[in-house]
Amino acid sequence: LPTVFTEALPVLEKINQAGYEAYFVGGSVRDLLLNRHIHDVDIATSAYPMEIKHIFNRTIDTGIKHGTVTILYNGNSYEITTFRTESGYQDYRRPDHVTFVQNLSEDLKRRDFTINALAMDASGNIIDHFDGIGDLRRHVIKAVGVAENRFHEDALRMMRAVRFMSQLEFNLEEKTYQAIKDNHHLLSKISIERIREEFVKMGIGKGSRRAFQVFLDTGLSQEVPCFQDKKDLLSIFPKLTFNPTTEENLWAVMIVLLKVANQDIAKFMSKWKNSNAMERQVARIVEFFDLISSRSPTNYELFRNDLKTILLTIDLSNILGQPVNGSALVDRYENLPIKKQKDLVVNGETLLKSGIPAGPKVGYLLQKITQAVVEGELDNDLDAINQFILKHE
Ligand code: ATP
Ligand code: MG
Repeated sequence: LPTVFTEALPVLEKINQAGYEAYFVGGSVRDLLLNRHIHDVDIATSAYPMEIKHIFNRTIDTGIKHGTVTILYNGNSYEITTFRTESGYQDYRRPDHVTFVQNLSEDLKRRDFTINALAMDASGNIIDHFDGIGDLRRHVIKAVGVAENRFHEDALRMMRAVRFMSQLEFNLEEKTYQAIKDNHHLLSKISIERIREEFVKMGIGKGSRRAFQVFLDTGLSQEVPCFQDKKDLLSIFPKLTFNPTTEENLWAVMIVLLKVANQDIAKFMSKWKNSNAMERQVARIVEFFDLISSRSPTNYELFRNDLKTILLTIDLSNILGQPVNGSALVDRYENLPIKKQKDLVVNGETLLKSGIPAGPKVGYLLQKITQAVVEGELDNDLDAINQFILKHE
């Protein structure tokens, strides 16, 4: 058993000793059976949140109303959620009410896909009421119960289906596929932030190109920002040379395929509710990509980017099937005389002290000096720079 589980075992045992049931549930059990990396284990229990808080010393009220308490145990944290069912789903979104229930079976029924409806007890017994193990073996994503009903309850599950398809390189079971095709319009009820999270996981998963084809074929792509009536352009994604493996390059690929103009990148990114930092990083990649697809950058153009942007842009070129000599670019960057403006032996303040009058001239000179140093035409040395200033004043 991987250490994430052995470390968590005492948590189950402590709950059991207090007289309650407790199981590992959901993604961690799935990933254990698939031999995939497990990032966290979730625990489901018959104990109420107050009872969990009684058993453990250090707890955080994560979502008491929904039955979730986070506990800190031996340096790890675990989310422990009381068995529950959900009801309401008035607006195709999260449930209005959760009802605590006394047995695991009811809890497993509310879960989205058979492969996510698995549980494991402290002795290692797997509880599998919906043949999730069979579906793991068959490599299919299949809704628990009637797919159509499950997507009516929570339309985000349709995005989760293509997300897991991509991450696990699985196929969609036929009825699950058909139900998405028939109900894709319900996705419009879901917040962009929640859609984005699943979209990104889909887009950078190992099977993203196949999953993306399903995202297009089912009509899901019609319900997300900026993608309406863009199926022709988006159809290039499944044919890409490689799949993106970073969020930055997923967005960059989308912007290139959709031919979003430079001045519209910010708008595109904010329609998807991306952060300003993400927007700026992606814009830099796309701009540098445009540049290196047309010609070799100057040293100064390399200098004006950072290594992260350069590496991501090289990666983007490969993804889009327009490879550039990446190691040559990185070598050139690594060998720049200076990497940052502050690596220069002069700055605005020292220029003023040396007698340059305050005003736009200072910035202009500084830029000229930087450019000359970066291009290798001027040494980063006080005497040389002073002579350079005399010539350019
Ligand atoms: P990941 O490895 O990405 O964390 P995961 O399967 O753990 O995958 P989570 O989103 O963390 O996915 O959800 C944990 C579990 O909760 C799922 O395995 C599933 O059983 C259940 N679940 C999560 N979201 C939903 C949903 N929208 N509808 C039904 N069940 C859900
Ligand atoms: Mg999880």
